[in-house]
Order: sequence, then structure tokens, then C-alpha cells
Amino acid sequence: MGADDRCPFCTEKEDCSHLFISCGRARSFWSSINLYLASVTDVENLWIVNPFSEPNQRVRTTLLICVCWNIWKCRNAKVFRSEDEINLHIASRCRDDLLLWSNRCSSPSDKAKIIAWSQFFFSG
Ligand SMILES: [Zn+2]
Repeated sequence: MGADDRCPFCTEKEDCSHLFISCGRARSFWSSINLYLASVTDVENLWIVNPFSEPNQRVRTTLLICVCWNIWKCRNAKVFRSEDEINLHIASRCRDDLLLWSNRCSSPSDKAKIIAWSQFFFSG
């Protein structure tokens, strides 16, 4: 982060809700994967709104953490390397992470679901 608490993308105050939900940069990514967060007010709210409509709580958490993690990496690319990542790049990293993380699933059915969800990011 820079010397102040401004968002690196739009100069508004950077907090969790801004970074992951309301910033135009985050919105651009969510909409590039055809998810619209109009009713989401903060990060915790993502779990209630469940934009992936994934009923399995563990799988839902994996998906949401994966997207937030990769929005965070996009933000760090901007802050530390002055790089503007394109949405396709973020989506392909989400896909790769899900495939990687699926190896850590103790439940075979969770694993199969996460591998299936990784395909969702091919269209991103
Ligand atoms: Zn912003």
C-alpha cells in the first residue's frame, strides 16, 4: 500500500468492501465472469448472497476465497509492479488455483465440484 489509504485503482478510500466489492476494478472482474453483486454490501455478505449459487458451504467458501484472493493479487500487481492485469488473466489464475486447491480436498465430492467450478473461469 502507498503512503495513504487510497485505492490504487480509483483513489477512493481503500477498505475491504471497496477493494473486493464496490471498486470499479473489482466490479469489472465480477461482471466479466457474469456475476453481479448489486445486493452485496460487504465481504461477509458475499457468503449470504452466494453469487455462485453454490449450496455446499465448503465449496462456496473455496470459490469466494479464490476470487477475493485473485482480486487481491491484481491489486498487489498494481501497487507493487504498476501492472494492470486484464480480467482474463485474473480468471485464468482463479481456474489454476481451484485446480491446485482441489488436491487438498479430503472429500471426493467436494474435489469433483471444485474441479467442475474451475471450468467456469474458462469463459471469464
Ligand atoms: Zn477503487
